[in-house]
Amino acid sequence: MYTERPFLSILRGRMAKSATTAKQIEKFREELRRHEYLYFVKDDPEISDVKFDRMMEELKRLETKHPELITPDSPTQRVGGAARKGFETRRHTPAMLSLDNTYSTEELEDFDRRVRELSGRDQVDYVTEHKFDGLSISLVYEGGMLARGVTRGDGTTGEEVTANVRTIRSIPLRVDAAELKKLYLPGDFEVRGEIIMPLRAFEALNEKQEEEGGKRFSNPRSAAAGAVRVLDPEITRSRRLDFYGYYLLSGGKMPTRRHSESLEALHKLHFKVSPDWRVCHSLDGVKKFIDVWEGKREKLSYEIDGIVIKVDEIALQQELGFTARAPRWAVAYKYPARQETTVVNDVLFQVGRTGTLTPVAVLEPVQVGGVLVSRSTLHNMDEIARLGLHIGDTVIVERAGEVIPHVIQVIKEGKPRRAVAVPERCPECHSHIHKDPEEVAYRCVNASCPAKRKESLLHFAGRRAMNIDGLGEKVVDQLVDKGLVKDFADLYELKLEDVAALDRMAEKSAQNLLDEIAASKSNSLARLIYALGMRFVGERTGQLLAEHFASLPKLAEASVEEMEEVTEVGPKVAQSITDFFSESANRKLIERLKNEGLKMTEKRAAPVDTLLAGKTFVFTGALARRSRDEAGAEVVRHGGKATNSVSKLTSYVVVGADPGSKYDKAHTLGVTILNEDEFDDLLAGRRKVEPDEAPAQKSSTKAKGKSRSKKTSSGHQ
Ligand code: AMP
Ligand code: ZN
Repeated sequence: MYTERPFLSILRGRMAKSATTAKQIEKFREELRRHEYLYFVKDDPEISDVKFDRMMEELKRLETKHPELITPDSPTQRVGGAARKGFETRRHTPAMLSLDNTYSTEELEDFDRRVRELSGRDQVDYVTEHKFDGLSISLVYEGGMLARGVTRGDGTTGEEVTANVRTIRSIPLRVDAAELKKLYLPGDFEVRGEIIMPLRAFEALNEKQEEEGGKRFSNPRSAAAGAVRVLDPEITRSRRLDFYGYYLLSGGKMPTRRHSESLEALHKLHFKVSPDWRVCHSLDGVKKFIDVWEGKREKLSYEIDGIVIKVDEIALQQELGFTARAPRWAVAYKYPARQETTVVNDVLFQVGRTGTLTPVAVLEPVQVGGVLVSRSTLHNMDEIARLGLHIGDTVIVERAGEVIPHVIQVIKEGKPRRAVAVPERCPECHSHIHKDPEEVAYRCVNASCPAKRKESLLHFAGRRAMNIDGLGEKVVDQLVDKGLVKDFADLYELKLEDVAALDRMAEKSAQNLLDEIAASKSNSLARLIYALGMRFVGERTGQLLAEHFASLPKLAEASVEEMEEVTEVGPKVAQSITDFFSESANRKLIERLKNEGLKMTEKRAAPVDTLLAGKTFVFTGALARRSRDEAGAEVVRHGGKATNSVSKLTSYVVVGADPGSKYDKAHTLGVTILNEDEFDDLLAGRRKVEPDEAPAQKSSTKAKGKSRSKKTSSGHQ
């Protein structure tokens, strides 16, 4: 533990300080690496995102003060430098080969027979793995540190995309030396695997593209490939890619006796390895694995297009060798494409939550990979133009993961061929349809269009929002059409007899629905914020806002600047939120929801007293006896508030070792500055809390003459 008293350490000479700082920085890095691993590789975080971000900021701050201590393996160094002009090419040794494909059990049996004949063995162990549908990549480590990331390219040479690869948080920038030693591995080694875009990231990306009028990506693989091969690493970072490792090489060879041991070693080195691989002692086991995953692959968070089968024993792999394009010891089994051809019978327009018209193809029903598909989204008119789609055309539809089916291509023109026309009036309320020239989308202009209402209610009730089971399309349609529900608050005023009178609704299920609605009142604040359906406020943003503001009324009052204090909340999002809350109808809605008893605050330890009520604290520098988060929590326990930036409204700035610019700012603004001992005195009641309207009396720390303006503490809050 770091125990030095903060003020002493500030006064000390540079030399002594930098030794402590170096240690402190390295400790931070280790902590951050561990949390990165827990979050991005194990998917099992121990701390909140906000806390993680704070730690990261703290490290960045320390490193900015001590640039000489920055190392390339620091977690802060994932994005650095500007966009480049082009990529260098790099050779792969050995080449990154392709895999032979099989599509049937017979072809698999042929493969197994060939392996056994060539090796003269009766029985061979195989490893079965997911065939990730992404982009293969080679990661070269030198001295345990990530030195290069190179795309497969033509197999012999690829493009060096190191800066981009570094932004992928599940890729370790360095591996643990002790772990390498345990595995008898040198610091120079190579990991090959697949960069993928998880389905949720893919959907979010397309949603965003749509909102911003950009081009949609047709599948996660091309989106991932595009994101890796851009010149600006910042773009790669924003795409939330992931990496799964499946080969370990050292000196161009596999360093283990078995492939399965390589997978285990990768796992121990903290690379992300899918847990869904097996060793099969016979082809029957392989077939079973293939069958199981054909059914379950829909549930995965990423796309797979098949299963890879590899000979487990490395000696046997070497014996079998390679053909010109692929190893003889491995093969891919490709799942049948989930694509079918069918005819577009009509195109309808659906009105979404924001009034957007979305064209939907009405298809001649067709089985696609075991699911009957009769509708398919066409996204927007630009997409229809791109496809050249007309009513009556024969098209290919594709299903991928849990993503809704979509038309990927027109293959035959229909006769007669009718062009798709945007309706002049809203199909739901017959109001006018308007198109903003800046946008792709057409919208219904009617603010209270029932379609918008219905979509908003469905979103509100959605599993990831208020999770009201039983409030599906059929019920919402009736509730809105009968005028029983106009907004979210009306849901909480529904009466049993009204609900029971709906079509196909027994008294029992009506009661269940009311119970579900009532239960949703105690949902987390994060869910509520997301459920409100503000533009650009997705699930994650909802969480971050809930953690930061801990109260809906506070969020509603917050200024754009205060919102931008939340990591990941940019000006566009902040503006959208303030727009929402400045609408008086929305304010009334929130008020009603509050009166209905919805939970509007986040669970946080209740204040033990009001000692610091009305006081705002900012912490800067490293405290000796607590983390800054803990210090913030103590302030909250005593009824105060902890924020990140110093302003005239700040009551106290508490300064630890190596304080940042907030310290200077506190000086300039004349905010009272405390060291940690003084902060302790304040908490223990040994030091008097300053009265509210006294900024002008802080003579000892106030800057000369500046910022005497009286603070009207209610004005900005
Ligand atoms: P293909 O692109 O159809 O020739 O298939 C070969 C590619 O499959 C390889 O280059 C890898 O990028 C990819 N692949 C995906 N998952 C795996 C896996 N588990 N093991 C080996 N290769 C894989
Ligand atoms: Zn309408």
